[in-house]
Amino acid sequence: MEINTDVLIIGSGIAGLYAALKVDENFRVILVTKKNSAESNTNLAQGGIASVIDPKDSYERHIEDTLIAGAGLCKKEAVEILVTEGPERIRDLMKIGAHFTFKDGKLDLAKEGGHSAHRIVHAADLTGREVERALLEAISSRKNIEMMENHIAIDLITEHNVFHLKEQEIKNRHCWGAYVLDAKSGVVKTIKAQKTLLATGGLGQVYLHTTNPLIATGDGFAMAYRAGAKIGNMEFIQFHPTSFYSSSDYSNVTKPSFLISEAVRGFGGILRTKDGQEFMHKYDSRKELAPRDIVARAIDNELKKRGDEFVYLDITHKDKEQIKEHFPHIFKNCLEAGIDITKEYIPVVPAAHYACGGIVVDTCGRASLKNLYACGEVTMTGVHGANRLASNSLLEALVYSFRAASDMNSLIGKEAREMPQIPSWDDSGTLTADEKIMITHSVKEVKQVMWDYVGIVRSDLRLDRAFHRIHNLYLEIENMYKKTKVFESILELRNLITCSHMIIKSAKMRKESRGLHYTLDYLKPSEEIHDTIIQNRIL
Ligand SMILES: Cc1cc2nc3c(=O)[nH]c(=O)nc-3n(C[C@H](O)[C@H](O)[C@H](O)COP(=O)(O)OP(=O)(O)OC[C@H]3O[C@@H](n4cnc5c(N)ncnc54)[C@H](O)[C@@H]3O)c2cc1C
Repeated sequence: MEINTDVLIIGSGIAGLYAALKVDENFRVILVTKKNSAESNTNLAQGGIASVIDPKDSYERHIEDTLIAGAGLCKKEAVEILVTEGPERIRDLMKIGAHFTFKDGKLDLAKEGGHSAHRIVHAADLTGREVERALLEAISSRKNIEMMENHIAIDLITEHNVFHLKEQEIKNRHCWGAYVLDAKSGVVKTIKAQKTLLATGGLGQVYLHTTNPLIATGDGFAMAYRAGAKIGNMEFIQFHPTSFYSSSDYSNVTKPSFLISEAVRGFGGILRTKDGQEFMHKYDSRKELAPRDIVARAIDNELKKRGDEFVYLDITHKDKEQIKEHFPHIFKNCLEAGIDITKEYIPVVPAAHYACGGIVVDTCGRASLKNLYACGEVTMTGVHGANRLASNSLLEALVYSFRAASDMNSLIGKEAREMPQIPSWDDSGTLTADEKIMITHSVKEVKQVMWDYVGIVRSDLRLDRAFHRIHNLYLEIENMYKKTKVFESILELRNLITCSHMIIKSAKMRKESRGLHYTLDYLKPSEEIHDTIIQNRIL
């Protein structure tokens, strides 16, 4: 089945939805999303969106805070664009219908770690859900946008699929759309588009513990890599220090962990090993109040040293009523999981939270393949550098998806059409998989290897081990993929393996500790500042 459109958008989080709304209404947009339309990282975002709204705040301070967090690797131009265009995008979101929290007639601006001013616009502590709701409602009344739920993009269409070109032609690749699996019917559709935009979000599911939902299997990173696009700084994965530990029972490994906010440590929470001993004093004089990456590394070190699966966060010494008043959601969630936090320690573990690197794009969201755009968490715009400043990611998605849509609007219909004859998806001779246990098992293996060897603390030895393990899995699964009709879990596994490969490869290239990348073999940042750029040469 073949479909033609002006713009194909893959993903219905904040980046994909906002871009779709900003495409000129005269152009046809097809928006594919792999589950129901609201299932996204966006829907889970709690804290809010950073932006200079308060007259006492300034662009210079927000820029400075972002550059400091990025540990020398941010692109200044990208950060300036983010900060100076942010307030206009927030006003636009409100016009579209997002209801943010107000106090005394003004936006209630919160303050978060790393920010020197009150600048976090939020909708109570469910900001992402409100933004997603407002954008989906606006999309539903737009006639030029067709939403296709339960459609999973398999691969981008490039010269590779059409002419079976090999590596020497990689420089002049074009993107002509994507092959997309209708998960309900099993039919693979060829969606041809003048412009294709990847807004597929993050890759937290690569790791055993993650705050990301099930959709976050890194599909966009992997599709772009397979198509030959440039991918950058994949080693910078942000880990949240304290997520609720439910179980490392393998039947449960894909379930996201819910966050136990930093505010609990701010409230006086004490971290303890499984046998009840305090340990943060050994790592930092600020103890539990040290920055996120230091706390995450301290917990990781205790877990590795002791072979434990979790540590405890203890607030049982605080007043019961105050606990309930300050943390109603955490109290409720923990109680549902069998822990009364006023009486019992909370089992916690760090969890993969955010990918700072991704598809390399310019300031208009253009990737290195002609006609391919990307925005949101799947990209490397240069905004985050080696570490993301809290609440800058929703802002990045807004600012850069607007820019991508504007660029597409200015080009569609004005360029010479270069679309060749595109072949339909060919699955002749392939079998239906009857060994799905191999998929489940391999997913667990990927997550465990990445957690143990490519997590918060790395070393050359650990990275080498991980590289070989992941390579073996790659060979096994590629073999299976070639012989089988496509289905969702094999596509996701393939993408998890590809993302793992990219993270390990980038981590091996970075011979220093900087920002979120910490390795025992090179403990200091090096004098030379560089991005790690990788590009697939195998296709
Ligand atoms: C628990 C949590 C709290 C957070 N809190 C904040 C916060 O307070 N502030 C902040 O700035 N950031 C926060 N973040 C980060 C932020 O939410 C994300 O970075 C952001 O929402 C990413 O938006 P996105 O549009 O790029 O991707 P997503 O919102 O993840 O959307 C991706 C979309 O792509 C679809 N998709 C993926 N693969 C395919 C495929 N192959 N085919 C079709 N569709 C596909 C998915 O189904 C989904 O619709 C938080 C993240 C988490 C997990």
